[in-house]
Amino acid sequence: MNGKEIIEKLKKKDIRAVARLLTLIENEDKEAEIILKKIWKATGNSYIIGITGPPGAGKGTQALRIASEFNLAHISTGDMLREHVKELTDLGKVAKSLLDEGKLVPDDLVIKMLIERLSQEDCLGGSILDGFPRTLPQAESLEKISNKFPVRKVLVFEADKEELTKRILLRGEVSGRSDDTEDSIRVRLEVYQKDTEPLINFYENKGI
Ligand code: ADP
Repeated sequence: MNGKEIIEKLKKKDIRAVARLLTLIENEDKEAEIILKKIWKATGNSYIIGITGPPGAGKGTQALRIASEFNLAHISTGDMLREHVKELTDLGKVAKSLLDEGKLVPDDLVIKMLIERLSQEDCLGGSILDGFPRTLPQAESLEKISNKFPVRKVLVFEADKEELTKRILLRGEVSGRSDDTEDSIRVRLEVYQKDTEPLINFYENKGI
């Protein structure tokens, strides 16, 4: 009985599927995790937690901690875009100069990249979005898929401008990130204030 068959049989309340699933769990079979996540999803638990905040506020660090604590898929649009730049993909070629200058990558491209990522199996049990949504159109794109992936919570991390700049410059020395420069930081902070901060109201109005 493979994973698909087990799920089909579970739907028909076939008790043998439960026995098979328990065996897979006992054997720590990877398939068990996928099946459990599918069940989790079917019960409406495939939710999203968003993390936002200005650059250097510690989004990435906290997102990783929360992801590991609650067994969520950690999705960092910044990391994904940097990977595209490294791999010289079409998206990477468009994104490179924008990332370096601290500007946002166009919404349609980031939204497409994120939606594709959410369709992967590890997102079935819930995901933490690190750095998405960053604009109103991005937040609206999540509304469109809210039947499948409701946004449960949005966490906002904040710190004052001077502290953020200090932290990022320090991080740049270790990370080697080409956008951790003073010029780019100034632009990123401006972009955050203009495009991302309004999302706090957007979610507050929804009671999230
Ligand atoms: P930081 O919060 O320090 O700016 P990120 O890794 O989240 O770091 O983002 C780095 C860069 O990647 C951004 O400046 C932007 O160019 C791009 N980026 C990341 N997420 C998005 C997004 N959701 N929409 C548009 N551009 C993004």
